[in-house]
Amino acid sequence: MLILVTNDDGIQSPGISALADHLKALGRVIVVAPDRERSAVGHALTLHAPLRAEEVAPDFWAVSGTPTDAVNLGIHGLIKDKPDLVVSGINRGGNMGDDLTYSGTVAAAMEATLMGVPAFAISFSGQEFSYDNFIPSAKAAVLLAKQINQHNLPADTFLNVNVPEKEPRGMRLTRQGKRVYQDSVVQNKDPRGRNYYWIGAGELGFQELEGTDFHAVQNGFISVTPLHLDLTNYAAFDRMRQWHLDDLDVIDLNNQGQE
Ligand code: MN
Repeated sequence: MLILVTNDDGIQSPGISALADHLKALGRVIVVAPDRERSAVGHALTLHAPLRAEEVAPDFWAVSGTPTDAVNLGIHGLIKDKPDLVVSGINRGGNMGDDLTYSGTVAAAMEATLMGVPAFAISFSGQEFSYDNFIPSAKAAVLLAKQINQHNLPADTFLNVNVPEKEPRGMRLTRQGKRVYQDSVVQNKDPRGRNYYWIGAGELGFQELEGTDFHAVQNGFISVTPLHLDLTNYAAFDRMRQWHLDDLDVIDLNNQGQE
């Protein structure tokens, strides 16, 4: 197997080293990752600045962009053959429920899927992020890579994997959970007396819903959530048919300012 490994914590993170080291059991691993931490950049792509890529060690490329840039550049520029698999992580901290669209880790797997390469994102839902603490997650990544190799992923589907802090009790197929948001904007004054704001600083919880990523991880299991790129809410069609959008008179929209 040819495996492209990336992350959003930056190429120096022990999580990416543990991941790359363990995946080498399955073939050649090429790391293409941001040259610094780029967490919570989501699916951002650098379109208005040049990108640089430096091979800091053999098969270890540091890219001056986002995780999505790294995957894009890896697949289309730096790696001669198309990878068989892209693995993104191991992230410092979980990526579950409503947090997924913020996550650079998850977006990197999404980008690979857009390019037709099977992918999964993997995050360690712990507190201490030493190399050794990432090892159970790295072993889970190897297991899942083998499963993908054997069974193939469904079309347009990638996996979001979260590993609990304590030794995992097993794996569970899960759905995306729901966050409980609190008023978490911190307002304060800077040394020059001006207000500043800090978002995302509060303690966030999750709803206790069985079958979700959070519930599995909370109960000591590795959560595996299949995601797809189609964000359409098909269940909404039934209710929205009552809006009769097809029959709305849009003549007024076209005549704006001309009456
Ligand atoms: Mn991160």
